[in-house]
Amino acid sequence: MRPMPTAPAIPLKPREFSRLGAERFDALVIGGGITGAGIARDLALRGATVALVDQDDFAAGTSSRSTKLIHGGLRYLQQRNFGLVFEACRERRILQQIAPHLVRPMPLLIPLYRHNRPSRSVVHAGMLLYDLLALRRNTHPHRMLTASDALARQPLLDPRGLTGAALYWDCRMDDARLCLENIIAAREAGAVTVNYARVTGLCRRDGRIAGAIVADRESSASLEVTARLVINATGPWLDRVGAFSEAWTPRLRPTRGSHLLVARLAGGEEALYLSAAGDKRMFFILPWGELSLIGTTDLDDHNPPEETTVTAAEISYLLGEAARYLPGTQLTGSDVVSTFAGIRPLLAGRAGQASSVSREHAIFETPDGLLAIGGGKYTTFRAMAAELADRAMVRLGRPRGVATTAGQPLPGGFPGWDRLLQTPPPQALRLGLGTAELQRLVNRYGSRAQHLLALLEGEPELAAPIAPGVPLLGVEVAYAADFEMARTPEDVLRRRSPLALLPGHGLAAVEAVATLLGRRLALPPQRLAANIASYRQTYAL
Ligand SMILES: Cc1cc2nc3c(=O)[nH]c(=O)nc-3n(C[C@H](O)[C@H](O)[C@H](O)COP(=O)(O)OP(=O)(O)OC[C@H]3O[C@@H](n4cnc5c(N)ncnc54)[C@H](O)[C@@H]3O)c2cc1C
Repeated sequence: MRPMPTAPAIPLKPREFSRLGAERFDALVIGGGITGAGIARDLALRGATVALVDQDDFAAGTSSRSTKLIHGGLRYLQQRNFGLVFEACRERRILQQIAPHLVRPMPLLIPLYRHNRPSRSVVHAGMLLYDLLALRRNTHPHRMLTASDALARQPLLDPRGLTGAALYWDCRMDDARLCLENIIAAREAGAVTVNYARVTGLCRRDGRIAGAIVADRESSASLEVTARLVINATGPWLDRVGAFSEAWTPRLRPTRGSHLLVARLAGGEEALYLSAAGDKRMFFILPWGELSLIGTTDLDDHNPPEETTVTAAEISYLLGEAARYLPGTQLTGSDVVSTFAGIRPLLAGRAGQASSVSREHAIFETPDGLLAIGGGKYTTFRAMAAELADRAMVRLGRPRGVATTAGQPLPGGFPGWDRLLQTPPPQALRLGLGTAELQRLVNRYGSRAQHLLALLEGEPELAAPIAPGVPLLGVEVAYAADFEMARTPEDVLRRRSPLALLPGHGLAAVEAVATLLGRRLALPPQRLAANIASYRQTYAL
């Protein structure tokens, strides 16, 4: 393993839109969600020259709107999809190794009730199989608990008819930052990665796709990107972008999943995995910082993905189902701190309930040469990327090589990533950073927390919160601008930190964030004013 870098390896120039038109690339990846980010990293590490563009911010689509679990997929056992569970358990382990700051073990409880299916023995058998398929790569093997053990762990559970619980381990993650770290890793391996750059058409040479037209959403500029291979990794937009090729046939059956955040329901670290009474779907209640995350739903949704919203019916469904298990909490709509929804880019298959649609992925190639990938889930993105990169290298006529993405830490995941917590450096104390701040920096940036301290050496005034009482330091905004390609306050407050989803929604900080971004990136004041107005409109209660 490489040693932990102590200073940012590459001073990232904020944006490289014009470079897209000035160079010829082996591959152009369209889409900077986790699928595209994983592919760009893999291909760049194999030595291909790569450009990646996203029409919005990186991870602004589904990849910041997931349930934030890296999981083996217990549910897929019911569908007898053992291959998917095996692969997901393997990937769960790899992601814990390469991004330990962002992917962390989390205990989950499945409470068992006399009146509920499946029975204790069926759940127990499923748990044994889940452990077996993990091949000892799980954090801990499962345990079957008595009712009183279950209540000791989650005292808010309805005790009536409770016969016990299954306790098992999966992982929680920071989805937006895991995606961003893949983008940064791709960039460190040589890729050109540009957000707010939309593909508006494909270019052909001799009847084959040989690039794309990309429009800069920050200016009126548009240019042609020349690439030997164009890869459509646009998740829920797959069919829309695919249709730029005349040879495309629609592939998706998109479904919406919604989540609610409420004040923390119970003190313990265990999440709950529950079966809804209405439609028998499984849903989660997860501890998420000071909040609990309840989700998700699974409904067909053919609206444009950018218009996705959580409906009142979904809020009442999730609150109602949560209340059945936690009757003392008496949740109402006014307890909801925030909501978010995402679109699953599932592949159309047989008709039936949305929740029964396969979560597997597939790679497609049109006769005119567009390579595309759809379906899949966050947990397996690295393996999906490796499979696509294998195919891409063959198409490029280059030695295929092998994916090295499993053995290389992501930028914040270097061994010793939490060293700052074990021995806080005197410099942190000098700057007035307490344990809580250091903990937050280490959890968010892993080994790169050192970079923020290095930045503070020259600009100690950035050690203060960006606005009074807001848990975000000035240095985090500066770092997001200088090294993490943030362009708008929402990029900082929703994806590089979670403030937009917390009580107050980051509204107290939006102006200060915009001002600092403007200063560091030399952004025009009219654009900043428009960004602030749009943020307030999206997140004002
Ligand atoms: C509600 C919900 C919960 C989920 N929970 C989990 C979970 O807990 N664990 C798990 O493993 N999986 C989960 N998933 C699945 C997982 O989140 C998705 O499979 C994954 O995020 C899809 O990533 P993607 O990159 O394919 O799509 P996206 O993240 O949507 O990325 C596609 C990108 O393409 C860009 N784009 C679109 N058109 C253009 C264009 N013309 N030019 C340039 N860029 C363009 C978009 O802006 C977008 O950023 C969940 C999904 C949903 C919906």
